[in-house]
Amino acid sequence: MKKVLILIALVVFSGLAAIMLWITSTEPVTPVQDAVAPISSAPSIVEPVSDATRSEVKRTDPVEPVSSSPPTQPNTTPNAIIPPPPTITTIDQLLTTLLPPAERARITSIDIETDGIDGTLAFVEPIAADGSTWRLVYDQADTYNPDGSLKLTSDVLQTIVHEYAHVLMLNHTQVTHADPDASYIKCDFDQTIVDEGCAQADSYLAQFIEQFWTESDREDAYDAFLAGDEEDFAYTLFTDRPAEFVTEYAATDPVEDAAESFMFFVLQPNTVSGTTANQKVEFFGQFPELVELRKYMQAGSY
Ligand SMILES: [Zn+2]
Repeated sequence: MKKVLILIALVVFSGLAAIMLWITSTEPVTPVQDAVAPISSAPSIVEPVSDATRSEVKRTDPVEPVSSSPPTQPNTTPNAIIPPPPTITTIDQLLTTLLPPAERARITSIDIETDGIDGTLAFVEPIAADGSTWRLVYDQADTYNPDGSLKLTSDVLQTIVHEYAHVLMLNHTQVTHADPDASYIKCDFDQTIVDEGCAQADSYLAQFIEQFWTESDREDAYDAFLAGDEEDFAYTLFTDRPAEFVTEYAATDPVEDAAESFMFFVLQPNTVSGTTANQKVEFFGQFPELVELRKYMQAGSY
């Protein structure tokens, strides 16, 4: 019951907040098919919970992309991350090398957009309404050199792993996706509302949020999103409580926090011990299937 109430105000913030974060650009990101136009309005909450077991939140913009890419990693990283091996020459090949076939199969489309150097490096969004298939969009200016070769940088590898983390945690086996045309997302009491729908109680994301994000922090993050202040919010939260987040970008909202923490889990598990940030990284280690997945991904990235 308490959980429901906690989540009422937060439906749209997780995914939508992520959408709007660009690495260095001041322009908000836009839906994929659009060129470069800022989002004109933020979603708004219209109604409170109507009863004890359902929560309803108005969605004004039902089909937003899921996530932007994280910014370039700040210098809080204790160890350098090894860039993709030179044998990999394309983003497609990198994905196929990194991911087991069943996971790779979730990403059925890879497309290119660009905002020039820096800005967004990549993002993902669902293709099928139920979240069973996804598209990855990457910026060629950030990922390829002028001569056409793949940039062999840790940024590229980190971002691709980060984006995959969204697919891992928001696909249809984890989140019951809402009808994109629906005005409201309605979740059962034991589910966690996210922008895409209802994260199942046993989903990675729901458990991550339950363990690491307070109602207050989620509300603040959502308010910051509505105000267009996500970057300032993340900066302030990270500055105030640096031991809680693996990167500043992780402080944006729970969905980005989970994706960044998963990225560290795969690429750089040995972060500073004894911190909440490290607990977030180790969180994923409680799931045997994710330990196996990490093993596979590490073999493909080193
Ligand atoms: Zn993200």
